[in-house]
Amino acid sequence: MEEDLENSEVTKSYTSFKKEQEQGEKTFDAIVIGSGTGGLSVAAVLAKEGKLVLVLEQHYIIGGYTHAFQRKGYMWDVGLHYVGQVHIEGTLLNKAFRYISDEKLEWEPLDNIYDRAVFGDKEYEFPRGRNNLKAKLKEYFPDEKDISSIDSYFQLLDEVNKVGPGYYIEKVMPEFLATIFGDFLRRKVLKFSDQTTLGVLKGITDNEQLIGVLTAQYGDYGLQPAQSSFYMHAVLANHYMEGAGYPVGGAPRFAETVIPVIKKAGGEVVMQASVKQIIVKNNTAIGVEMADGTVLNAKTIVSSAGVVNTYGKLLSQEVKEQHDLEKKLEQLTPSLAHMGLYVGIKESSKNLKLPKCNYWIFPDEYNHKLNQDRYTDFDSQLPVAFASFPSAKDPESEEKYPGRTMAEVIILLPDTWFAKWENTSWKKRGEEYEKLKEKFAEQMFEQLYRIAPQLKGKVDYYEVSSPLSTKHFSGHPHGEIYGAALTPKRFRQKFLKPITPVKNLYLAGQDAMIASISGGVMGGVLCATAILKKNMLWKIQKSIKK
Ligand SMILES: Cc1cc2nc3c(=O)[nH]c(=O)nc-3n(C[C@H](O)[C@H](O)[C@H](O)COP(=O)(O)OP(=O)(O)OC[C@H]3O[C@@H](n4cnc5c(N)ncnc54)[C@H](O)[C@@H]3O)c2cc1C
Repeated sequence: MEEDLENSEVTKSYTSFKKEQEQGEKTFDAIVIGSGTGGLSVAAVLAKEGKLVLVLEQHYIIGGYTHAFQRKGYMWDVGLHYVGQVHIEGTLLNKAFRYISDEKLEWEPLDNIYDRAVFGDKEYEFPRGRNNLKAKLKEYFPDEKDISSIDSYFQLLDEVNKVGPGYYIEKVMPEFLATIFGDFLRRKVLKFSDQTTLGVLKGITDNEQLIGVLTAQYGDYGLQPAQSSFYMHAVLANHYMEGAGYPVGGAPRFAETVIPVIKKAGGEVVMQASVKQIIVKNNTAIGVEMADGTVLNAKTIVSSAGVVNTYGKLLSQEVKEQHDLEKKLEQLTPSLAHMGLYVGIKESSKNLKLPKCNYWIFPDEYNHKLNQDRYTDFDSQLPVAFASFPSAKDPESEEKYPGRTMAEVIILLPDTWFAKWENTSWKKRGEEYEKLKEKFAEQMFEQLYRIAPQLKGKVDYYEVSSPLSTKHFSGHPHGEIYGAALTPKRFRQKFLKPITPVKNLYLAGQDAMIASISGGVMGGVLCATAILKKNMLWKIQKSIKK
């Protein structure tokens, strides 16, 4: 635990914060619950508009899923492996990250082949650039060339690229305007989001292998094509069309560069600060009650702790009943949880010839639904594994961790498989649990060695995380990676937006917008737009010139 990264130069512990408050209480304009991409980005945007913001994070490391941890001279990130568009100067996402970090966050582009999909022993490359990817797919599937299914797929992606604005504008509209114009504004997105990814792809091709490859990145939204919304798939495919970037300095650099912006305006970011309840009087949020009973007040309260935590746990029964919040939450299902394998090797990534890309590793079966349906217990074949090498992606890694390689493998599974250990505590879950983690380690090592056999026999350290670890550290009740599952139904839920039925209470983060790091950040920007009643997207576009 003492080896975890504590960002202590930029953050404060709750104990120190409380002591300082006793000596002279500082009043804040806004309190933000949660320090993930959503929480920190809304706080930074508000800070740049002169607001004093207090960010409260329950974990002892700041950053939500962008946090990292260290063991024995190695460092691994948890929930940031690549982000699209940020590495290309002038894109909206590039500008948004530059804006909230005061130009301090830098991105290292991944290799031109930024993703590789492996089915059995056949590998498919995802090259950077729309035309390159199209040409590659036509090369892999020559029979499809004449029947234009690949062209139709890219046309659909182009169409989806144009439909978003109305859908997102509605999310920040005052309720009465949303009621009048909402259906009209959302209709273009719903045309795509109402259909499953598989449903749409089956409409353009019956080639199962092609469908398998086109959806090989489904782990990026955590739901196989027969269940996921095609809108989510298309947004993700477009997001990575020009490749991706990785933060120079690793995932924690996100929090390290954004927090100073919040602090410069007089704000604070406090860790080990668990919020128990949002205090609401006369349907207006006025403050928060901390786990130790302390009450902190502010005019604006933002929750970026996820919609299920916010509406399900942080509001009183009376408020929940007043706005039918439990019924609303019943419309959502949690996205999948994950197991992580974190591997340390005493040799540089350069020596080991490890690429700056990610691998999506499958059995030899291309039908993701079939693979997922067969995944019924701990012994069945893994339907998908993700592997990558943060030390190869980060240009500062060799300087900070000389001669060391960090590898990560992630698999998706439901948290319910771990129900038996639900009431045990971290690091004390018993022998059976540890044995099970070992079994998962073996399975994940097997996948890792399929794509990097040169690592065999070189492992110096490894550690396995389970959905219970995620629950413990992230506070997400099902250890879910992407908030509410990205099904067609999810995109029909009008309440997934920054504006809540409680006055002065706002939602930020991925549930208010869309899953992913950039979804979290844009959810934060959107939330600030709703709070300030000022178009912050336009401001970002204007203030960052290129
Ligand atoms: C294994 C994994 C790999 C991923 N890889 C990628 C990737 O490569 N690219 C990508 O774009 N996305 C990736 N994602 C998804 C991405 O990390 C998330 O979509 C995004 O970070 C969500 O941000 P958020 O701010 O909405 O939520 P979070 O980051 O979950 O932040 C919520 C915060 O709220 C805090 N909190 C909860 N309850 C309380 C409380 N009561 N009091 C105080 N604080 C509280 C939590 O501790 C947490 O820090 C990955 C996720 C995971 C788990």
